[in-house]
Amino acid sequence: MKKSIEYTLNNINTIIPEIFDSLKTKVILFEGEMGSGKTTLMEAIASKHTKYLLLDCDDPFVRIQLENANTEELKQIILDYDITDPVSGSRNWTDVRQFNLMFETKLGSVSEGANSIYLRPETAQGIFVNYLNVQKTGRMKLPFGIAQIGKAFRNEIVARQFIFRMREFEQMEMQFFVKPGEEMKWYEHWKNTRMKWHKALGLGDDKYRFHDHDKLAHYANAAADIEFEFPFGFKELEGIHSRTDFDLSSHEKESGKKIRYYDNESKESYVPYVVETSIGLDRMFLAVLSAAYTEETIKKDDGSTDSRVVLRIPPQLAPVKAAILPLVRKDGLPEKAREIMNELKFDFNCQYDEKDSIGKRYRRHDAIGTPFCLTIDHQTLEDNTVTLRYRDSMKQDRVPVDKLSEIVDDLVSFKKLLRDLEMI
Ligand code: ATP
Repeated sequence: MKKSIEYTLNNINTIIPEIFDSLKTKVILFEGEMGSGKTTLMEAIASKHTKYLLLDCDDPFVRIQLENANTEELKQIILDYDITDPVSGSRNWTDVRQFNLMFETKLGSVSEGANSIYLRPETAQGIFVNYLNVQKTGRMKLPFGIAQIGKAFRNEIVARQFIFRMREFEQMEMQFFVKPGEEMKWYEHWKNTRMKWHKALGLGDDKYRFHDHDKLAHYANAAADIEFEFPFGFKELEGIHSRTDFDLSSHEKESGKKIRYYDNESKESYVPYVVETSIGLDRMFLAVLSAAYTEETIKKDDGSTDSRVVLRIPPQLAPVKAAILPLVRKDGLPEKAREIMNELKFDFNCQYDEKDSIGKRYRRHDAIGTPFCLTIDHQTLEDNTVTLRYRDSMKQDRVPVDKLSEIVDDLVSFKKLLRDLEMI
């Protein structure tokens, strides 16, 4: 398992994302699941809501008919076989219509001669067309990965549930290139590593589960989702797919250019196989935000109760790492607080706040998820210590100012998280 971290850190290159891939249409058309970018509404409905009712049909005779049917014939088959929507129980089907899964636009300043192009529905193809470039210039040896963050566009039938499903979103994808025959080992490796990564964020282990796909896209030989328990139920957060050599081989075929890897050990050259991890940045943001938002009733020192809103966002992801709070706005405390702020600001995003009572300021920072509040009081001027208050437990410790950077760093830095993963 130690290898996982090495591969995460050393064997993954990042390439700069582009909003619109300057790729030719044919590149986009290789998109596995998206096919030509067009699917019938019937297929879309079947895949999303009726559990592949049509596509999963066991009867080979019906399957052949389905695969070769045009839209009118498809409707007739549905009527002939008396197919019922298992969700609604209805047989009241609309006509089958073509549905565009991709967004089409025109490239060219004048309308005559302008080419139709498609906005990319996933970032993966940009990685595939750059595979050889990265492998050669980086002198990479298999296995290695290329990771990218970028915009993706899908003409979703229904975009909903806040930012869960959008037509324009941000994807974070990695294509991991491996020797043919080793893809299953790496598929399992990335499935487990990605699950550990999610759990290490501390949002709650029971909020995650795997969903292994029975029905595979034509280019895949294994696929699973990591599902997360959103407020509206368990839904896909990330996909892990073993994509075989489908993409690189298709690019090789269409471009007429060899995309081979020469293996120095086995003295053979081959098209690498690919294991993909793919997650939506926006969906990940929604997962973190929805799990982190908490309304709590707390007991005060005098026995009475109070409530607070606290965003239990993982410290590594919190936008503000520490709040610097002089207890009062006099007696030299603001000056001392500014001094501490001026030291810490080079390491962390800190906020200085001197307005309102200290209690109100704690609440404000609880609500935006600041993991630490550092309070500067009269004792600070005497012994150079501050009160460090933890957001989640509300526990308070007295700590020396010289140790602050180290203490905060230990909890907010990704180093710790990566080290923890390495231990697993
Ligand atoms: P879903 O079943 O939710 O439609 P998918 O199986 O089509 O997702 P993939 O093609 O595997 O998703 O895309 C990888 C990841 O990209 C998803 O796990 C998700 O995090 C994100 N994603 C996909 N579609 C959208 C969208 N419309 N809006 C936001 N994020 C998305």
